[in-house]
Amino acid sequence: MFHSARIKLTLWYVLIIMFVSMMFSFIIYNGINNEFGRFERYQQIRIEREQQGLFPPPPLRSIEIGMIEESRQRLSMILFVVDVGILIISAGAAYFLAGKTLRPIKEMVEEQNRFITDASHELRTPLTALRTEIEVNLRDKKLSLDAAKTLLKSNLDEVVNLQSLSDNLLTLSQFQYKNGNGFWEEISLSEIMNNVVKKITPLARQKNIVIENKVKNYTLKGDKQGLTELFVILLDNAVKYSTKNSVVLLTSNKTDSVINIEVIDQGEGIKEEDLPHIFDRFYRVDKARSKENITGYGLGLSIARKIAEIHKGEIKVVSKIGKGTKFTVSLPA
Ligand code: ADP
Repeated sequence: MFHSARIKLTLWYVLIIMFVSMMFSFIIYNGINNEFGRFERYQQIRIEREQQGLFPPPPLRSIEIGMIEESRQRLSMILFVVDVGILIISAGAAYFLAGKTLRPIKEMVEEQNRFITDASHELRTPLTALRTEIEVNLRDKKLSLDAAKTLLKSNLDEVVNLQSLSDNLLTLSQFQYKNGNGFWEEISLSEIMNNVVKKITPLARQKNIVIENKVKNYTLKGDKQGLTELFVILLDNAVKYSTKNSVVLLTSNKTDSVINIEVIDQGEGIKEEDLPHIFDRFYRVDKARSKENITGYGLGLSIARKIAEIHKGEIKVVSKIGKGTKFTVSLPA
């Protein structure tokens, strides 16, 4: 698909370049030809006058006229060769330019395809489990009411998980191709963080985790909904992957150009070999996968990173197994 688009674009570029080059040649040819014509007419008059004995005879008149014809042919030849040269060079340049023009579109389509493949793959596993469970139980002729209820409860859990997966996929695709222009508003960091803490507090209470919010009230420009989503993801993870009765700390500091917001937990930590991958889509550290009480599809951090990028910021992470993890979000002040 992209190859044929590239060829088509190349042909269009070549056509435009050739049109310009031929117009140019035509104008040059006509201009020089007119000059030759004037010179030719002038020579003709000189010859006629010479024959009438009006001037002393200048030498080699007919040879001069032959030379003019020869020059004319040579000029056409040179222009033809130049045009062919331009055709070859412009074809190469156009092919290169067409490739360059199409590259971002190609990358975007490839990324979209990868996204669809990943998403379908992630959806297939729980759906298959759900289907198998229902089929097996339907075949059981002596299925009791209690067993049926247990089955329905387990099915409901799966459906809730699937719903959160589809919500996450939607959020990710929503932020995937935003570029941060045109939706900036002035926002207060405290307001965002208070909101985020309010959302995660019920979850923290279940594990008796204290959230200490020490973020200062800086003002920055950005997308309120996006930044709230980003810190909900980080705080939710901090609570999810922390042990009971621990503390999650939210702090901030500011330099001339950057506002740093830190989410620090005293949780299980992340292994060094996992750190480079945790921002990848659908990446979950194996340990987390096996923990049945910790739900998630490995989409949170990729959404968070995307939102930070849209704000021309970044997220860094440092972690120590058994000690805890610190995520630092840096946003332009
Ligand atoms: P999810 O939490 O849905 O699995 P994320 O993309 O949010 O997906 O996180 C990816 C992985 O990074 C998680 O599976 C978890 O193993 C690890 N992780 C993220 N945050 C923390 C944290 N604060 N402490 C320990 N591990 C974490």
